[in-house]
Amino acid sequence: MNIILLGPPGAGKGTQAKRLVDERNMVQLSTGDMLRAARTSGTEMGKKVAEVMDRGDLVTDEIVIGLIREQLESGQSGGGYIFDGFPRTLAQADALAALMDELGQTLDAAIELQVNDEVLVERIVGRAREAAAAGEPVRADDNEESLKIRLMAYYKQTSPLIGYYYAKGDLKTVDGLASMDEVAASIARVLA
Ligand code: AMP
Repeated sequence: MNIILLGPPGAGKGTQAKRLVDERNMVQLSTGDMLRAARTSGTEMGKKVAEVMDRGDLVTDEIVIGLIREQLESGQSGGGYIFDGFPRTLAQADALAALMDELGQTLDAAIELQVNDEVLVERIVGRAREAAAAGEPVRADDNEESLKIRLMAYYKQTSPLIGYYYAKGDLKTVDGLASMDEVAASIARVLA
């Protein structure tokens, strides 16, 4: 099974992806994690995207499609891929479909984690607060200013993907406001 986790920032995509990795040996492909790793290692690409990421805007399709292509071509699919935070634009969705096709793989479902905006803002601000209290690094884009821009990017550029995957017959919607275990159970039903 290869799946996409769709939803705004703070919807719980990363948390659910990590559970699927632990429980099903799936492979998480998070473009956000890849971009943060590129920044930390100081690559040219990392430097180029840092400012855009901190602001909360999307980096170019070309960059993220390149990162995903590299991962898919390395062929470590384990129990299937979880695309987390990718695709985020229609161009990325088309590119992913073409790449999967090329590699003889299929996309089985796009799972939308549905949440409401007020809860999101509280979650993200809470995530930053908890990390700070635990002495862990706080994501540079986990502040209210960047959050507004990230939410706007989601509604303008990413939310059309819900219609796109619905039309393809691949969309599954789960209640992202339920507890972590309940959300995991809903996802497990989609994967069954
Ligand atoms: P995330 O960890 O998924 O919230 O991503 C953090 C930031 O990385 C986003 O706000 C974007 O700046 C950038 N990013 C991650 N994935 C993508 C993507 N698929 N397309 C464009 N930008 C992305």
